[in-house]
Amino acid sequence: MKSEIICVGTELLLGDIVNTNAQFLSRRLADLGFSIYHQSVVGDNTERLKKELEESFNRADLIITTGGLGPTPDDLTKETGAEYFNKKMIIDKNSLDKLNSYFLKNGKGEIKGGNMKQAYFPEGAIIFPNDYGTAPGCAIEENGKVLIVLPGPPKEMKPMFENYVIPFLKKYSNGVLSSKILRICGIGEGIMAEQISDIINHSTNPTVAPYAKEWEVTLRITAKADTEESASKLIAPTEEEIRRRLGDNIYGEGETSLEEVIAKLLISKKLTISTAESCTGGLIASKLVNYPGVSSVFMEGAVTYSNYAKMNRLNVKEETLEKFGAVSEETAKEMAEGIAKTSGTTIGLSTTGVAGPGGGTDEKPVGLVYIGLYINGNVQAKKLEFSGSRDMIRRRTTITALDWLRKELIK
Ligand code: ATP
Ligand code: MG
Repeated sequence: MKSEIICVGTELLLGDIVNTNAQFLSRRLADLGFSIYHQSVVGDNTERLKKELEESFNRADLIITTGGLGPTPDDLTKETGAEYFNKKMIIDKNSLDKLNSYFLKNGKGEIKGGNMKQAYFPEGAIIFPNDYGTAPGCAIEENGKVLIVLPGPPKEMKPMFENYVIPFLKKYSNGVLSSKILRICGIGEGIMAEQISDIINHSTNPTVAPYAKEWEVTLRITAKADTEESASKLIAPTEEEIRRRLGDNIYGEGETSLEEVIAKLLISKKLTISTAESCTGGLIASKLVNYPGVSSVFMEGAVTYSNYAKMNRLNVKEETLEKFGAVSEETAKEMAEGIAKTSGTTIGLSTTGVAGPGGGTDEKPVGLVYIGLYINGNVQAKKLEFSGSRDMIRRRTTITALDWLRKELIK
């Protein structure tokens, strides 16, 4: 199938930004076996974009655009695509709901103004969710012509392409595309990229693409072959080498989550857990209960924020708090042991730290966190020093605590 790429944006024409989207898409389309003979760039202008679509569709059957899906009036790519195919723009309820909850979650109130636009699509379009931003993408298919419209920001466009466009394009590609997802926790994107940069940069079949999201990195290994079986055979040695290098930082594969992996480990090992949280204020408990089957192993989550609660609920000693302070290794250990013993579980997990923005001292700065882990009579603590906002420190502590627990469970 012949394909072309059209990148939309006046910024590109003026040389304000480099067209990395075209590079990425060309490379990925070539990997997938599509022929590409043209790339073009047009400004944010309906007439010129429409003309470009006409010319491109005279030469090719598949066109991918990036940019112009934003909330402002000059973001017109979807609308122009609809005009080209003579389609009405209609609202997609699902996208509207997602946009609404995104707005509410981020304290922006009800969705309004231009953002409403992002929930409208050409009639009959296939919609690609945006997991990293607000504007979904879409595909319009008619009489053998396919237009795929993607957002401009690379960090939104790339994962949309990998996760939704590639599966969609399978039917147009000769052969089979197969991919495997590895989930990584406990090392940042930068460190991971360093450890496997040669694999990411030099692999062509399979390709290896990393994505970072909230302290978690996902690696997608994609191979193209004649059959599913031979695609799997191409993936295997690359996966093996990645596993060798990243070791137990790979916590799972495919559609799973850290909490699911932990819950399954606890269930299979017949271990029970309770949590005593100070600075994370219940985030760990909340993560654990994301997994529906966790009720048989997760007994209790206490938010013991004050010194009084630490003493009264967890039996942390007054001397410990006086001598070492609430944010200390000793307190974290007593919290973990205290919650395990009082709720009768094999494991107790605790957090105590300075989440900020105020309250830091030279000795105990904002971002200083201790995690306590009690397993079957053995208690340990870990000291961590995070940077960032209160929210980031609390979320990072949560993931780090859960990941530490996971690594102990697989030892
Ligand atoms: P937004 O909702 O941010 O407006 P959009 O889909 O309308 O997204 P644009 O407004 O065209 O996209 O571009 C938004 C940003 O994405 C640009 O400022 C630039 O940083 C980046 N971007 C857009 N197109 C490209 C491209 N072809 N290559 C690299 N980066 C790009
Ligand atoms: Mg825009």
